[in-house]
Amino acid sequence: MQNSLRYIREQLLPYYQEEEIRHLAQRIISFVCSTDCSLEILRCKGKEISPDERNQIENIVSRLQRHEPIQYILGETEFYGLTFGVTSDVLIPRPETEELVDLIVSDCRSLESRSLRSSLPLDFPQKTPLTVLDIGTGSGCIAISLAKCFPSATIYGLDVSAAALSVASANAKRNGVAVRWEMHDIFKPIPSGLLPATFDVIVSNPPYVTESEKAQMEANVLAYEPHLALFVSDDNPLVFYHAIADLGLQRLKHLGRIYVETGSLYGKATAALFLQKGYREAQLMQDISGNDRIVRARKI
Ligand code: GLN
Repeated sequence: MQNSLRYIREQLLPYYQEEEIRHLAQRIISFVCSTDCSLEILRCKGKEISPDERNQIENIVSRLQRHEPIQYILGETEFYGLTFGVTSDVLIPRPETEELVDLIVSDCRSLESRSLRSSLPLDFPQKTPLTVLDIGTGSGCIAISLAKCFPSATIYGLDVSAAALSVASANAKRNGVAVRWEMHDIFKPIPSGLLPATFDVIVSNPPYVTESEKAQMEANVLAYEPHLALFVSDDNPLVFYHAIADLGLQRLKHLGRIYVETGSLYGKATAALFLQKGYREAQLMQDISGNDRIVRARKI
């Protein structure tokens, strides 16, 4: 194994920082050798790398040299403690989106426990089971993580891309949850019968990076991730939030909540948009890096 680790380091040094190479080496070896053990433990155990494993390592390393994201090379990634398959048809789930899921989980859990403890009326539309709609579900990471946390919830995942929905549906099976996947373009009217009449929660991480922000993006995001899931025009950067807010006006229950991820440049404008549309308490929240990232609003 020492030889393989040396090979990975030497080949990647011109392209990545030491720290990142150590992290990549761990992921490569864990994947190729199907183990969760740390490199230190494998080294102590005297783990041998077979010729087939060596070939796989060489193939992965040569793709990393072209800056392909490790998640697409290995075909999987971790999100909210679960493993998700990813292909270039879906965005790689980001840590900011885990924060979005975590906020929904803690809001809904505290409402659940309040409903168990007290007979006072809740300021939330419905006691459990929740009904949730995830718009632009991609890999399904938000919908599936919520389904895992709220097993009795009814969860819908919408996407315009059939390829994304097939990744999402495989991910639901892999994680042992049921989510209803529907192909739909949110700029078109919802066909009757496609969705339930009302939801407790609507969530979305829509495309929000403007064309003019492209220049500051990492080259590998631009080269490998689906532009359909990332970009909006400079002329109308809030186009998805308009459609999501309108859908919420039709389909959210009274006092139902809507949660959206936003880019840091347009967080304030997104919160203002929800207020203009008649929502209340549109709250802008920051991610752990301190960037404006989430808007949570409530329907009157
Ligand atoms: N957070 C992602 C990025 O900056 C963008 C996600 C999105 O557009 N919804 O790469």
